[in-house]
Amino acid sequence: MKKLHAVVIPFPAQGHVIPLMEFSHCLAEHGFKITFLNTEFNHERVMTSLPENVNKENQIHLVSIPDGMDPGEDRNNLVKLCETTLRVMPGYLEELIQETNKSDGSKITCIIADETMGWAVKVAKKMGIPQAVFWTSAVGTRTAILHIPQLIEAGILGSDGIPVKQQMIQLSPTMPALNTDHFAWTCIGDSNMQRSLFRYIVSNLEDIKDVDWYLCNSSYELEKSAFQLNPNLLPVGPLLASSQPGQLTGNFWTEDSTCLNWLDQQPANSVIYVAFGSFTIFDKHQFHELALGLENAGHPFLWVVRPDLTDGPSDAYPDGFQERVASKGRMVGWAPQQKVLAHPSIAGFLSHCGWNSTMEGVTMGVPFLCWPYFADQFLNQSYICDVWKVGLQLNKDDSGIISNGEIKNKIKALLVDETIRERALELKERTKKSVNEGGSSKKNLNHFIESVKGK
Ligand code: UDP
Repeated sequence: MKKLHAVVIPFPAQGHVIPLMEFSHCLAEHGFKITFLNTEFNHERVMTSLPENVNKENQIHLVSIPDGMDPGEDRNNLVKLCETTLRVMPGYLEELIQETNKSDGSKITCIIADETMGWAVKVAKKMGIPQAVFWTSAVGTRTAILHIPQLIEAGILGSDGIPVKQQMIQLSPTMPALNTDHFAWTCIGDSNMQRSLFRYIVSNLEDIKDVDWYLCNSSYELEKSAFQLNPNLLPVGPLLASSQPGQLTGNFWTEDSTCLNWLDQQPANSVIYVAFGSFTIFDKHQFHELALGLENAGHPFLWVVRPDLTDGPSDAYPDGFQERVASKGRMVGWAPQQKVLAHPSIAGFLSHCGWNSTMEGVTMGVPFLCWPYFADQFLNQSYICDVWKVGLQLNKDDSGIISNGEIKNKIKALLVDETIRERALELKERTKKSVNEGGSSKKNLNHFIESVKGK
């Protein structure tokens, strides 16, 4: 029988590498060999963050190619990153496929590219290899991108992608409204950067036309209305890390697992977990307000303070904060987030509402406190607070800050809200059904695997 071998190519950012690694594990469990292709820069980060017990005999083979940026350049500059990857990565990918295909029994049978990396689809088509694209955010977010021509036609966007004015738009009566300032391309940098990113997105849309499979990390259950506007899209989520010990996760930072022992010592349903994903950056004032809000709320908390979470030094806590909270607070540089969310001591998740964090909180039945930072995170907040009703929103004051008083009050309000907790647990059960045997996401996964075999 033909050996299935997929090259999996995530967009070079943490929130894309993790779900595609999770999907790779699902496929590996079904007998696929996986070549997981990171940029050299991210490959290095993944390799240095590997835990000691990682299983090196994995069916997932990690490889890398250059991203076209200089070693010290800022990879958070998305416009530059998209421009350089588009310029250099197609050539390297083609070479990699040619080399891999030379070795016996290893011929590549399919490419699974992040949907934002349409250039990889072009390479696969040119080389006659079946292609799948994988969308890692909410389907609602994808819908806005698919509707770009209609938004221009309706005079909501200029032909350069810049909104004519900031407004809320409704793509379907049952989908949450979208803010034109929160589109992937309108939420970054100055208008020149926005135009460049818009051009990238529009040309990417061309590249991903007529792909063999369109997959995503969501479920019909969670985004019913958005799927009606994306009829070809097959949800296979929500994905989770493999439960096998020692499996690769694709983390860019080393997980500090000691916080799990700390959680073991906390009462059931008492801890607020605070994490803002891989991208969010706070200024010192906002960072201090958050620290004081957590302190004053009086509940135990586990707070992920990435080394680059603030625009100043990472230990920029308010004076005496660490000593004062020593008995009830724990700060770590990077947490094993899914294990934390699954822990019985966790009572709430103060989150930036990145899509992966959203899916993970939903799957574990944890109520949310929402603090979106940019882009699709606002739509995700609408899902959490208005559609699924499993969380509360934090509001900014007149100076644009989320004050320590607001944080304290909302933590207290969330932790006594039984209705939200019950709904979160119900949603967890419904969501689990879609990925369990017989569920819609599981059926889609099986269908995908069978049709790759048939190609
Ligand atoms: N994450 C983690 N440990 C942390 C913080 C985050 O493992 O301390 C993981 C989290 O589980 C999620 C990903 O990092 O899978 C972040 O993705 P998300 O879409 O939530 O946010 P982004 O980083 O893209 O803004």
